[in-house]
This record gives sequence, structure tokens and C-alpha cells, in this order.
Amino acid sequence: MTLAIHGGAPVRTAPWPSWPPPVDDAQRKLVTDVLESGLWGATQGGSVVSDLTAAFAALSGVPYGVAVGNATLGLFAALRGLGVGPGDEVVIPAYTFVASATSVLLTGATPVIVDVDPVDLHLSTAAVEAAITSRTTAVMPVHLAGSPADMDPINDLAADYGLVVVEDAAQAHGATYRGRPIGGLGDAGVYSFQASKAMTAGEGGLIVCREESAHEAIWSVCNLGRKLGGQWYGHPTVGWNLRLTEIQAALLLPWLDRLEAELDRREAFCAALERELAAAGLPVGLVPQPPGTTRDSRHLLMLRFDTPIDRSFVLSAMAAEGVPLDSGYPPLGTMSALTEAGARAEPCPATRAASESVVWVRQSMLMDDPARASDIAEALAKVLQG
Ligand SMILES: *Cc1c(COP(=O)(O)O)cnc(C)c1O
Repeated sequence: MTLAIHGGAPVRTAPWPSWPPPVDDAQRKLVTDVLESGLWGATQGGSVVSDLTAAFAALSGVPYGVAVGNATLGLFAALRGLGVGPGDEVVIPAYTFVASATSVLLTGATPVIVDVDPVDLHLSTAAVEAAITSRTTAVMPVHLAGSPADMDPINDLAADYGLVVVEDAAQAHGATYRGRPIGGLGDAGVYSFQASKAMTAGEGGLIVCREESAHEAIWSVCNLGRKLGGQWYGHPTVGWNLRLTEIQAALLLPWLDRLEAELDRREAFCAALERELAAAGLPVGLVPQPPGTTRDSRHLLMLRFDTPIDRSFVLSAMAAEGVPLDSGYPPLGTMSALTEAGARAEPCPATRAASESVVWVRQSMLMDDPARASDIAEALAKVLQG
């Protein structure tokens, strides 16, 4: 038997749920229908991509959507469709996935990396305002870990300075902010269906937006510069083929029927873990949600220690207890590839502190029976108390 670092049997020996969850009958049937129809691409007359697009627009409380091959390209297409390009600056948070920055680089604009709020670790409105220059044209709040960024102050600031707002909703399918769905709160919102995300087809993405003109422009970026409803070989603007396939959409459309239940399950697990940690009196707790969170999609759970820890020891000791946790993102501003490509990084002390002290519980673990949240608390107690 493997011995845990502190000795004795590991707290957890049963495997955690795997991700993605097993396919269900509705997915199997729709994928098979698409395969047998021969209509695998979205331009052949099939309806699954358009049904998925309409469903996601509705989920986001807006009329329009454009399905894309992944969210990196989706963020690029949303920015470009909304007029962002070379010479512009786009303000992004330092504590996020690298694609929030590389999508900006794809447009030719400069990512300006700013600090997050020290408590909730989401984009700080004050840091955005401090970084605004005459070249700033857009801001990209990220709904990190499934909890919505505090959008009202960001939207107010954007209105004051005439900035475009693109929500990076890659981690937040189904989340709500002050009772309103995310994705539709800015000028555009972008979901990801990459393999680790809350809904996945292996890869995929979807852009949603409120304005017809934005929809037409973004659609054109994703469809080789065509005009919506125009000539097949007419390309009035420059665009690319960024489309999702019908086969991918067939995995995703039925998933929407169980998304709510999956969010409930992860929420119950997180609530149970929060109770267990408090009851055990451990110096570790959940990173708080930003103000205005009404539905957190719990893509992953960020834990923060109230005491200095040797994090790499904690991570390896937890893994030895059968509870593998993640160390999360390094600050974007420390990635030399980004700064060498022209990204500008403002000082980010809160992000640096978070990147050294936070650990993540993976989404697959949050899908376990909430009664098993005690395994995580017990392992933390063993590791922290020796
Ligand atoms: C996953 C992710 C992306 C990129 O999504 P892809 O579909 O993998 O391109 C962008 N931003 C954030 C915050 C993400 O988590």
C-alpha cells in the first residue's frame, strides 16, 4: 500500500470522478443522427450548431450567438468583430489562463495585464482604470473559476471611457450575476467547450452578443469575411474559417439539459467542503466570490491558506493522501513569451500573492458525492497538522 507522507493509509483511496462524465443516451443518439446524416459541417444544412447557438444565446439572455472552434479564437473573433486591432490596448487580469492574453495578441492589439482584487482574485476595476491610456479600447473581465466578475463597476467604467467589454466566460457556463446570466452582460461573451470545461466536445467555443451589428461583424470574422445572408464567394471583409462542427454540437446540445443539475451538485460539494473546513478549524478557506455573485458555476474551487505554507510540500502531501490539487496560474505578467510579444504588465502584487498561496480543487472532484468533501478536509487536517 502507498503510504501517505505523514504515514498511515491515505485518506482517500477510491478514484475521484473522471472528466468528462460518461456520455448519455441523448448525446449518443444525436451524435449518431449527425453521423448518419452526413451533414457534419455547419454549412451543409444541419441544424445542431444553430440550435446550440440559439440555446446559448438564450442561456446568456441575448439574441445572438456564433459557434467557433475554441474560445481562444472566439475571444479573438469577438474583439476583432467589435473593432479591436493593431494600436489598441486591451486590459486583462493577470490571474487567468494564457488564452485571455494570446487572443488579444491575435488581433494585433496590446494586452495590458493588470492586477486582480486581493480578496476575490477577479479583475480589479481600480486596476483597470489606472491602466487606461488614450489607446485603450477594450477590457476583458474573466469569470474565473465559474464566479462572475463584478460586472456593474466594469461596465460603468467602460461606458465612461468608451471601451468595448468582452467577457471571458470560458469557465462559467450557467453562472449568474445579480440574477442576470453572464455572457450577455458586456458587448460579447465567450464560452469554451475544451476538454476541461463544464461542457465539452473535446474542443469548441461559442460567442454570444446583444447587438445585431456586433453579431454580423463577429459572424463575418468566423466565416471568411462573408456577409451574413450574402454571396458564398463574396468576402467584403477579411475573415477566417473558425467554425464548430455539427458532430461537436451534437455532444453539447443535450448537455444543456443536465447543466443545472451538475451546477447544483458542484455547489453542494463546495458548500459541504466549506462547512467541513470551518468545523475542523483549519487555516484554509474558500476564496470568496466577487460581489454580485448569484450563481457560481463552480468550474473549480480556489482555496487559500491563512497561514504561510510550503505549497509544493502541501500539494505533494495531499496527492499522497489521494487528494490531488492544482497549483493554479502563474501571473500572466511573468510569462516572458507574452511580454516579448508586446504585452505590457502593470505591477500585480495581489496576483503574485495568489499565485503563490492558492490551490485549486478540480471540477471532476467537485462532481463527487458531497458527503466525500470530508476526504479533502481530513487530508488537509492531516497535512497541515502533521
Ligand atoms: C479555457 C480557457 C480559455 C481558452 O479556451 P479554449 O477553448 O481552450 O481555447 C480562455 N480563457 C479562460 C479563462 C479559459 O479557462
